[in-house]
Amino acid sequence: LPKLIEIGDIKGDLHAHTIASDGSGTIAEMAEAAIARGYEYLAITDHSKAVGIARGLDEKKLLKHLAKIEEQNEVLKDSGKKLRLIKGAEVDIMADGSLDYPPEILDQLECVVASVHSGFDMERARMTDRVLSALSSGQINILAHPTGRLIGIREPYEIDMEKVMAAAREEGVFMELNCYPERLDLNDIHLTLAKEEGVLAAISTDSHSTRNLSNIFYGIHTARRAWLEKKHVLNTSTLAELMRLLKKG
Ligand SMILES: [Zn+2]
Ligand SMILES: [Zn+2]
Repeated sequence: LPKLIEIGDIKGDLHAHTIASDGSGTIAEMAEAAIARGYEYLAITDHSKAVGIARGLDEKKLLKHLAKIEEQNEVLKDSGKKLRLIKGAEVDIMADGSLDYPPEILDQLECVVASVHSGFDMERARMTDRVLSALSSGQINILAHPTGRLIGIREPYEIDMEKVMAAAREEGVFMELNCYPERLDLNDIHLTLAKEEGVLAAISTDSHSTRNLSNIFYGIHTARRAWLEKKHVLNTSTLAELMRLLKKG
């Protein structure tokens, strides 16, 4: 066996919600929880407006929220804490493959996590085109929960993962391993494909509370099933490396 990834290799989390959308923690509370885990960074990625049920943010609310994240970074710096909050959003991929924010808004985000939350019953070719079109926008950093499965509740949607993986490599997009126990999406087989294609995986908790950050445990074990090593995972990077990898274009 190669030296498989361990929980201690993880330097931060790139998918987390706050009370601004459907999370239960404030920005400050999520930051403290990340500090308690010894993280260098935490991306705050609340929902975009299409997800009404999760109180997704419109452009105006998002910009206010980003200002609050910046303020919290100042507070952290002033108190000598090492955590850096990353300004992000979880942006919906619409049915036609467009993104739920216009480019000038996406440009203001340091980490764009894109995902499908609707129209799961599309046939395979259409769903693949939908996601490929989002990937080719040049505006996405991470494709979140790429098959949409909820174990025991919802089957994965039909999608050509080989095509998606090739496009992700081409476009410099990272693929999420969502650590929610119901999701574990990508699964071990898709993660092996990502490794073979040279696409880094982002092992992200998609936390909706401070406690959810500990779900990283489930992601690490799924990654180990795919024989992922530290070098195959985006968020084993230091903050400086990460910010370079998140630069678009
Ligand atoms: Zn999501
Ligand atoms: Zn999410």
